[in-house]
Amino acid sequence: LPPQMRMDAGGNVRVVVRVRAFLPREIERGAECLISMDPHTQMTTLHVPNDNDPANARAKSRKVIEEKSFIFDNSFWSHNKRDRHYAHQEDVYNCLGEEFLDHNFEGYHTCIFAYGQTGSGKSYTMMGTPDQPGLIPRTCEDLFQRIEAAQEETPNISYHVRASYFEVYNEHVRDLLVPVIPNQPPYYLKIRESPTEGPYVKDLTEVPVRSLNEILRYMKAGDASRTTASTKMNDTSSRSHAVFTIMLKQIHHDMETDETTERSSRIRLVDLAGSERAKSTEATGARLREGSNINKSLTTLGRVIAALADPKAQRPGKRHRDIVPYRDSILTWLLKDSLGGNSKTAMIACIAPSDYEETLSTLRYADQAK
Ligand code: ADP
Repeated sequence: LPPQMRMDAGGNVRVVVRVRAFLPREIERGAECLISMDPHTQMTTLHVPNDNDPANARAKSRKVIEEKSFIFDNSFWSHNKRDRHYAHQEDVYNCLGEEFLDHNFEGYHTCIFAYGQTGSGKSYTMMGTPDQPGLIPRTCEDLFQRIEAAQEETPNISYHVRASYFEVYNEHVRDLLVPVIPNQPPYYLKIRESPTEGPYVKDLTEVPVRSLNEILRYMKAGDASRTTASTKMNDTSSRSHAVFTIMLKQIHHDMETDETTERSSRIRLVDLAGSERAKSTEATGARLREGSNINKSLTTLGRVIAALADPKAQRPGKRHRDIVPYRDSILTWLLKDSLGGNSKTAMIACIAPSDYEETLSTLRYADQAK
């Protein structure tokens, strides 16, 4: 990879953007690609749509729209496979996932979010497909490969891995590793706060895992549970935040003194609710409440990340808690240990190639998180 593709070591927040290929329905409608990316400067530009695309005509008729450019830590061009700078799933992993796993082995917590409108490529980026695995399965694979290699080189360190998978829907937490019971309403878990550990989900399933295959099985089961519940409840998966967590514990046994020391880190991989769900212009009742809850978590998350990226918020003497609004949503409150302090955070802004309004809103959100 060229040097600018690897994130620099300083700073705790990374913001990257990824544009996907056209979907068949976009090709059918003759959509034009409004995005260009400069692989050298990492600049992403959103262009003004022409008049032929009805999908963007509404935006154009409402206000004057113009070309906008943004610079992020990385811009992943996944629009056209034939281009030299095309970013494969592997490239996204190599330039973000791998480095974050380095941090985990050093004892840091990490958190990677995928943000964007429904259909922009969030779950493709995080989960991927069987042929094109995304960040989550690649992280699992690399994790177990590293553990295997380390066990041969440093037999005095033992490694323990556990996993959990939950979703936050409408400010409620559902355990994705508990099978959905047919014809039963969803079961929500309570949130507690421990003086030492901070906020946590009470009774959340945390499974010990010993191999790649085992963790992938849990990942798939959780995904299936999310999909089953969402078909019953009318596509809630785009309305919920899915949080996959891997807990890594390294126990170091000093042969001479016979003492043991522990190092624990948490890996959070989060597929956020569709950002368009936050705007509930025509919604009433339950839908309005749902929209405003999504809006609350996404806005709060944006503010939390922006506060973390702001050096002023990190100044000694200012207490973190007073500045960073973790408590304003369930999602940020639960992820408090993975945001700020001893942790590294990345936001992947996923964008569709031909939707001016939603893309601008995603790019602005990502821009304020920098
Ligand atoms: P979201 O999770 O944001 O709702 P998806 O990840 O489901 O969106 O993506 C929508 C569709 O686009 C899926 O069919 C997915 O396979 C496809 N897709 C998304 N990103 C890419 C990409 N980088 N390359 C190829 N196909 C993609």
